[in-house]
Amino acid sequence: MKPQQNSAPDSPDQLFDIDSLLNDEEKAVRAAVRQLVDERVKPYVADWYQTGHLPARDLAKQFGEIGLLGMHLEGYGCAGMSATAYGLACLELEAGDSGIRSLVSVQGSLAMHAIHAYGSEDQRTEWLPKMATGEAIGCFGLTEPDHGSDPAGMRTLAKREGDDWVLNGTKMWITNGSVADVAVVWARTDDGVRGFLVPTSTFGFTANEITTKMSLRASVTSELVLSGVRLPESAVLPNVRGLGGPLSCLNEARFGILFGALGAARDCLTTTIAYTQDRRIFDKPLAAYQATQLKLADMTVALGNGMLLALHLGRLKDAHQLRPEQVSLGKLNNVRESIAIARQCRTLLGANGITLEYPIMRHANNLESVLTYEGTSEVHQMIIGQAVTGHSAFRG
Ligand SMILES: Cc1cc2nc3c(=O)[nH]c(=O)nc-3n(C[C@H](O)[C@H](O)[C@H](O)COP(=O)(O)OP(=O)(O)OC[C@H]3O[C@@H](n4cnc5c(N)ncnc54)[C@H](O)[C@@H]3O)c2cc1C
Repeated sequence: MKPQQNSAPDSPDQLFDIDSLLNDEEKAVRAAVRQLVDERVKPYVADWYQTGHLPARDLAKQFGEIGLLGMHLEGYGCAGMSATAYGLACLELEAGDSGIRSLVSVQGSLAMHAIHAYGSEDQRTEWLPKMATGEAIGCFGLTEPDHGSDPAGMRTLAKREGDDWVLNGTKMWITNGSVADVAVVWARTDDGVRGFLVPTSTFGFTANEITTKMSLRASVTSELVLSGVRLPESAVLPNVRGLGGPLSCLNEARFGILFGALGAARDCLTTTIAYTQDRRIFDKPLAAYQATQLKLADMTVALGNGMLLALHLGRLKDAHQLRPEQVSLGKLNNVRESIAIARQCRTLLGANGITLEYPIMRHANNLESVLTYEGTSEVHQMIIGQAVTGHSAFRG
């Protein structure tokens, strides 16, 4: 028998035989999104990141063309694909950049999902078809300057004036905010929290882009100011009352993230494996040292385990059996492991690891935001803690 060390190296996905767990449709979605990202994102994203400028409108149209926007929703021009296929698409997008996946997540899982699940028929037919093509962009305003993890404390107020509603308040850290045509805004009313569709051209609505980010620089993040924004009754999402509405949308987006983060990790790991083969140190490839292989092996295991968890949760979601605390398991584990992989890969690239010539520091910085948004790690730990103990630790 020949010795094994000269055989072609397996990629982490091949080693776990992930392909045997996917059907033909899922492989086709994965291939189409991977190709789009390879051609339209990867060659440009370091520049977008460096300049802090994302061509969001162009990208949205390109994503709309291949049916990526709201791809897991039924009807209204949406592709009606499975949750697992959507997850795999998120993974491929995030292999390009977390900011690109954020654009698609917020459009499909937050803004379009809210309209699809809770909107009137008129609201759905007005907004969803053009959001699916990328002709219209949506954002989702829940977080406020003083209320992130505890949205129940929100101060944005919607008051009745005759037949109209008048909104006042500030939303913060809103993805797509400055490029959006419609903002789904959650506000306090006398009847609990309600959702409003605010066309961004409405008088009194302003979006101010946040330009000082060191993370998710290839993503538009904004403050939304609502100053006496007057809306007709037809702007209210009629089919939801209370915080359960926005929280159910967040659950949709978290599902995409638990796949997506693994894309960033995979890009870091495959880049690093290739780098360590080429980089010679003390007359040997860096990949041939035990210390390197221990790191690469641990990262391969963490990435593969994350992938198995994501696929399991995807299958549960497609069977309509996925519970919110299970989404928390996936978001907590997969983002935490992905950021650990990005940081470890960074060490293996030495000084090259800190540059934009390689994607690793960009992914690591992006994952800092991913760790925080859609429920911080601590919030997900408390959700899981409550599920296994029966005690809520949210209020100390
Ligand atoms: C790039 C980016 C894009 C975003 N996009 C959007 C968007 O499109 N729409 C939107 O509505 N929001 C968005 N967000 C906001 C995001 O969801 C919030 O940042 C997140 O919910 C955390 O809120 P916070 O930043 O106010 O942190 P805080 O809630 O102030 O948390 C600070 C710290 O306290 C911890 N903590 C919270 N509660 C507890 C507790 N009970 N016990 C112990 N510790 C606790 C947290 O885990 C964290 O470590 C975005 C954020 C970023 C960074």
